[in-house]
Amino acid sequence: MPNRKKVMLITGGAGFLGSHLCDRFIQKGLKILCVDNLITGSLKNIKHLEKDRNFEFIKHDISKALHVAGRVDYVLHFASPASPNDYLMYPIPTLKVGALGAHNTLGLAKLKKARYLIASTSEVYGDPHVHPQKETYWGHVNPIGPRGCYDEAKRFSEAITMAYHRYHKVDTRIVRIFNTYGPRMRIQDGRVVPNFIYQILHHKPLTVYGDGKQTRSFCYYSDLIEGIARLLYSDIHTPVNIGNPDEFTILEFAKLIIRISGTRSRITYRPLPTDDPKQRRPDISLAKKRLQWKPVVKLEQGLKETIAWFKENLTA
Ligand code: UDP
Repeated sequence: MPNRKKVMLITGGAGFLGSHLCDRFIQKGLKILCVDNLITGSLKNIKHLEKDRNFEFIKHDISKALHVAGRVDYVLHFASPASPNDYLMYPIPTLKVGALGAHNTLGLAKLKKARYLIASTSEVYGDPHVHPQKETYWGHVNPIGPRGCYDEAKRFSEAITMAYHRYHKVDTRIVRIFNTYGPRMRIQDGRVVPNFIYQILHHKPLTVYGDGKQTRSFCYYSDLIEGIARLLYSDIHTPVNIGNPDEFTILEFAKLIIRISGTRSRITYRPLPTDDPKQRRPDISLAKKRLQWKPVVKLEQGLKETIAWFKENLTA
């Protein structure tokens, strides 16, 4: 009997990372069930897969139960608003998809005896007092601040994932994703990379929040997808940081974008949003050691590719 194709269900599959995961695993010969309610995802991201017979799109809000016929071998839970602007606009759907969505997808993985991987985030570390952030750090999160809906939903989703692993023996993985950028981000999702690129392309000043001394470390999407794939095929059940450890202040980052795009945009300062983390950089020693993974795309290279993509897709 010929080998049956493995089936992977990806929630948030029409989003930025979800759609790249669809591409990755369809290329590896899996059948993809892509679930998305399209509140922040877009059909544009999966249009090229529409006619592939190994791809199926299911428009569904995963905060509500989902019944799937037949075998499912992998469940990847990536549905969630992920930009601070988006989760400020959709605080309750954000809480629900992190909590009820995790519960529903874990239930599905348990029923189907599927391997499960959940997208967590560096936001579980909050405004960290330990730097760089190691997986063993418990974090410093304000549960009732404006970012609490995202941070606490993700912390809950990690807790319920570990509970399903320990109690129901579901074969789970948790990836803690640090700032990631690349093609298919929404140009106006409010995050710093698309914001600055939008501003450059429209000859507007770059809006640096606060004094710009806060730091972030930016990972190109292709590195992140490779890290997630390696984690999925590993045997690590505790959270693993995947991100790029090259740390920049936001002001340095604005200057870098101005330089490589060759524009004359100025910098303008805006108030720092409440609870904006002052520093963020992943400690990736666990991923290096256990997954033999490290990012390979330099920020300058990734940004050039992202700017080129936005140029093409803004005028299209
Ligand atoms: N930021 C900024 N200007 C912008 C958008 C964001 O200075 O137009 C800052 C923001 O205050 C934060 C950092 O850039 O310190 C990264 O913000 P983003 O929204 O991309 O994600 P976060 O890492 O905060 O989740």
